Amino acid sequence: MHKLLEVTDLYKSFGGVTAVDGVSFELKEGQLLAMIGPNGAGKSTCFNLINGQLRPDKGRIKVLGRDTTGLKPRHVWRLGVGRTFQVTSTFASMTVLENVQMVLLSASGHLNSVIRRTSRLYVDEAMELLKLVGVEEQWDRPCGILAYGDLKRVELAIALANKPKLLLMDEPTAGMGIRERLKLMELIAQIVKAQNIGVLFTEHDMDVVFAHADWIIVLNYGKLIAEGTPAQVRDNEEVKRIYLGSCKPENP
Ligand code: ADP
Ligand code: MG
Repeated sequence: MHKLLEVTDLYKSFGGVTAVDGVSFELKEGQLLAMIGPNGAGKSTCFNLINGQLRPDKGRIKVLGRDTTGLKPRHVWRLGVGRTFQVTSTFASMTVLENVQMVLLSASGHLNSVIRRTSRLYVDEAMELLKLVGVEEQWDRPCGILAYGDLKRVELAIALANKPKLLLMDEPTAGMGIRERLKLMELIAQIVKAQNIGVLFTEHDMDVVFAHADWIIVLNYGKLIAEGTPAQVRDNEEVKRIYLGSCKPENP
């Protein structure tokens, strides 16, 4: 199994706050890796360091064996690191199909010509992606009127349109009901296995994490305090004490 991501001794401070404090971990092909921890633990900062939005103060990041530390987001993206964006980044007035077409056009350098009537481009590819995430029947509806869970699926299709090897998903199920969360994460797990990609995700619902993650890393105050299989993390005393036992989900 190839290593898709290697993070070594990563540090990032904001003023007096050390948001990421010496974090190291790896992610391999076909792996669904959950990063958990209380609110403010440093999860989003880790994501932003990996995708190039932030520069680490110290430490190394390797993607597919290449050192990407300090690279700009577009360079990291070109190496095959995708990410899901929040709802607002989809074009609300465009249809579901058009949103995914846009990304395919952009990735192939055809975006400018879409301004001139090119609405037939990549229709089949976009429909394939919509089918994969289960929203193909909504293809001609404007994104702005979709149910929230369906919009999250469109976001996943958009992220997959660039054929990432590694997908970063910071709270992909935020705002969804528990049943939808489990279903979306199940779909993501299937895609990870079928396409042999890697996914790093955060999620505050422990049922979702334990049901679908292959491996879990736990952050607290910027430090990686535990890692293991769902069973190992569930039984870890420190995790129980500082996170699970606190009975305070980060987004109640
Ligand atoms: P999480 O995603 O686990 O909730 P974050 O990575 O968002 O945690 O935040 C980790 C810590 O870093 C928090 O104390 C947060 O207030 C701080 N932080 C994050 N981003 C910034 C920033 N841009 N400027 C200042 N402090 C920040
Ligand atoms: Mg966060």
